[in-house]
Amino acid sequence: MRFESFSFAPEILRAISECGYEKMTPIQQQAIPAVRRGQDVLASAQTGTGKTAAFALPILQKMLDNPSTTGRSNARALILTPTRELAAQIADNINDYAKYLDLKVVTVYGGVKMDSQATKLKRGADIIIATPGRLLEHIIACNLSLSNVDFLVLDEADRMLDMGFSADIQKILQAVNKKRQNLLFSATFSTAVKQLANEMMVKPNVIAA
Ligand code: AMP
Repeated sequence: MRFESFSFAPEILRAISECGYEKMTPIQQQAIPAVRRGQDVLASAQTGTGKTAAFALPILQKMLDNPSTTGRSNARALILTPTRELAAQIADNINDYAKYLDLKVVTVYGGVKMDSQATKLKRGADIIIATPGRLLEHIIACNLSLSNVDFLVLDEADRMLDMGFSADIQKILQAVNKKRQNLLFSATFSTAVKQLANEMMVKPNVIAA
């Protein structure tokens, strides 16, 4: 199935085409319509399946469909991912997909100073891509508000839990707007991942790709 079949905005279609994508991958075919409908999604997906575009493209479209009423001081999408490398990779992809949209993407991860990330967060972000530990530090330092987050993505949830981020994720969930759409991607479904999914979502659309 081609991206044109899903009535994406011309700005998004043009960016996708410039990435060289023609057909959707299986996870994209399943996740994109579910996210567009507003459903929570629980997806089992390995890296390399096109999962980043599977969550990012419909979120970008939905952000375009419903422009922010509060301006940029509050992020509308939060993507949690286990490592700095993955955060940077997701940011690169989203910046490619959003190159014709007026959206600000901010990435936060540990291992570097808080200051420049804090400055960027305070200037405002539409989309935040973060590792859980560092995001929590910024929440505690009041560098951002998550009260307007409409979309929460947990990427590689199994790895985040294996790396010991469970308590941080729980605290972040408390800080995020309750009325939001949840998307959880995981390569494996351990008891801990299932438990987290149960806490976050009611009747998610389950996808295996
Ligand atoms: P991911 O699983 O999100 O890490 O994506 C793996 C790779 O597939 C990345 O290099 C993407 O740019 C690429 N990709 C994602 N979707 C498509 C698509 N529909 N057609 C071709 N390549 C894609």
